[in-house]
Amino acid sequence: MEQIARMPALFVGHGSPMNAIEENDWSRAWRGLGAALPRPRAILVVSAHWMTPGVGVTAMARPETIHDFGGFPDALFAMQYPAPGSPELARRVQTLLAPQEVSLDQSWGLDHGAWSILVHLFPAADIPVLQLSLDLSQPPAFHYALGQRLRPLRDEGVLVLASGNVVHNLRLIQWQSGHAAPEWAARVEKRVMECLQTRDHHALLDYPNLDPQAMLAIPTPEHYLPLLYIAALQDEDETVSFPVQGIDLGTISMLSACIG
Ligand code: ZN
Repeated sequence: MEQIARMPALFVGHGSPMNAIEENDWSRAWRGLGAALPRPRAILVVSAHWMTPGVGVTAMARPETIHDFGGFPDALFAMQYPAPGSPELARRVQTLLAPQEVSLDQSWGLDHGAWSILVHLFPAADIPVLQLSLDLSQPPAFHYALGQRLRPLRDEGVLVLASGNVVHNLRLIQWQSGHAAPEWAARVEKRVMECLQTRDHHALLDYPNLDPQAMLAIPTPEHYLPLLYIAALQDEDETVSFPVQGIDLGTISMLSACIG
């Protein structure tokens, strides 16, 4: 049987949907990152933008490109990412996550948390992509435990790709350029990096206490929680790298973290 290389696990800070169509520091960095990654057999995305009661995995053969935002230019609404799905891998994910019940979803597709970065990471759109939903009624430890059950996928050629932003405060966003990021934003991002480097996953799970102002950096959990799926895939002796770093618009961390 062909030996499959162990896949890394990747968290990407996606930021504005406009990164899908803009030529900027982030989109350039993502293209370089994608070119350096081994080619996966399939990609399982945990996106900040798919929240459901209970847990679901997309199971259609042809996932639709979902334009789940408003007030952006037509060019963004015209974007398509026509990657196939994989009903077979959806069933595999369902099996791995047992005894957690996981529904085989036929209604979602690929949201912008997934495709706005995939158009740069894997522009050919020829690798099957699935999404796993976030059940926000569950505590951080639940998400971490699900991530741990996904471990075998790394040896099956599947890239687990988490998409969110470790610091994400839209209320305090700074639209005018030239403003430095507030200190708390840079501090929380740095703490997250330290916790990944030292494998202090307990601190990542207890994120409201990462910093006295952690709740300004993480006012809602959905953009932070995808990180826990990637942390859960980090083995004892595994290093982490940060192929993309920086804060956009003052309060959006664009940090990417790569395990393995
Ligand atoms: Zn987002």
